[in-house]
Amino acid sequence: MNKFYITTTLPYINADPHIGFALEILEADVLARFHRENGDEVFFNTGTDEHGLKVYRESEKLGIGIQKYCDDKSKSYEKLKQVLNISYDNFIRTTDKYHVKAAQEFWKRCNGSGDIYKKMYRVKYCVGCELEKTDSELIDGKCPLHPDQKPEIIEEENYFFRFSKYQDKLLDLYANNSEFVLPKKRLNEVRSFVEQGIEDFSISRLKRKMPWGVEVPGDPEHVMYVWFDALVNYVSAIGWPNDMEKFEKWWPAVQLAGKDNLRQQAAMWQAVLMSAGISNSKQIFINGFIGVNGQKMSKSIGNVITPAEMVKRFGVDGTRYLILSYGNFGEDMDVSWEKFTEKYNADLANGLGNLVSRVIRLSSEFNYKMSNISINQEFMKLVDLMELGRALEYIWDKIREDNKYIEDNKPWELAKEDMAKFGDVMQKLFIDLNLIAEHINSFMPETSKKIKKALEEKKTEILFQRIK
Ligand SMILES: [Zn+2]
Repeated sequence: MNKFYITTTLPYINADPHIGFALEILEADVLARFHRENGDEVFFNTGTDEHGLKVYRESEKLGIGIQKYCDDKSKSYEKLKQVLNISYDNFIRTTDKYHVKAAQEFWKRCNGSGDIYKKMYRVKYCVGCELEKTDSELIDGKCPLHPDQKPEIIEEENYFFRFSKYQDKLLDLYANNSEFVLPKKRLNEVRSFVEQGIEDFSISRLKRKMPWGVEVPGDPEHVMYVWFDALVNYVSAIGWPNDMEKFEKWWPAVQLAGKDNLRQQAAMWQAVLMSAGISNSKQIFINGFIGVNGQKMSKSIGNVITPAEMVKRFGVDGTRYLILSYGNFGEDMDVSWEKFTEKYNADLANGLGNLVSRVIRLSSEFNYKMSNISINQEFMKLVDLMELGRALEYIWDKIREDNKYIEDNKPWELAKEDMAKFGDVMQKLFIDLNLIAEHINSFMPETSKKIKKALEEKKTEILFQRIK
């Protein structure tokens, strides 16, 4: 049995779940379900990233205890399991005790490799991003993602990670794995970042300035920088370092990440893995979506569309379809209520929903012959390459063809005039609908079940009600 370990990034809990993360966790969910269906053993990890300055300040501002703040926020992400019907196997929080211990052990391993050292540190730091910014990343001295916040100047003694030592090893990693990062333009981006020369980066903060973090082993005056501790979740979630049997079973991971995380995931994390003596990740899928900072979406609709609000309007599978089909892999997603509603009516109410109700209505007098159904190879390849929007387009072309086939052949007239031809037409539609149900199973699990049941019982409810 093949093993398949997939993980999302851990969203930072200073805000509630937004549609960008919904896309990421839905993509992971489709891949996890797809591999389970094909008989693989799957471990699907997600969770929340809870340390760092931004969370600390936010909880202070609200005047609630930091642990309670984290508990509440984390729950809103955990609940996506119900809200979007996500099939994750593990939900890790970076405040979990086993994770904190793993992060400290990980630090010790990197230190043992001679890759951690202390030096004076003076840098511009964007609290909004929780990231250091070089002058070239700032526009008019401000972070382009957070133009309303002035970057802070930090000067203190910090621990550094010897990133520069890993330049050649990273370039070898990319050269030997042409699909290590997908889409390929993102691999090219990270390669040229590494080629230009990489600098050691800070991996700690002074505890008296920022107490909400994992303590550095052997130096209680420092806590780990939030990125360093959070990344370790990809290995601690599967048992590292205590349960090495479990770890060996699942590692390496297929990781998903937003394009803003490209360098952290595909370069920095890979270097610290090498330093800790762990093999590299298996593959990294980089997403692109507008709305991660709520900017473009805010302009068009006044506020951010949340996954929960979408579910109220479009149902669980309707929401899954809309987010997955808009989020064309690696491309930015530009969304609004109008666009979603239009697509819902066209593709779901008039498209799939209409096809199902027409075929079922016509089928009462007809006995189908079942035949073997297999997943189309082209479709499979699209899913494997994470081209999920295109995979859905492939199926929806079929749905449009079948709706046209019904209009062209008018089976309701054939039923009165030519029973043999009626039988042929209905048999084709029956097989097509079965195929469609099978292909959308990982994308829209409940709808797939309903279609199969409707074909069996020859009756159906309205799957997708038209929305005004
Ligand atoms: Zn920023």
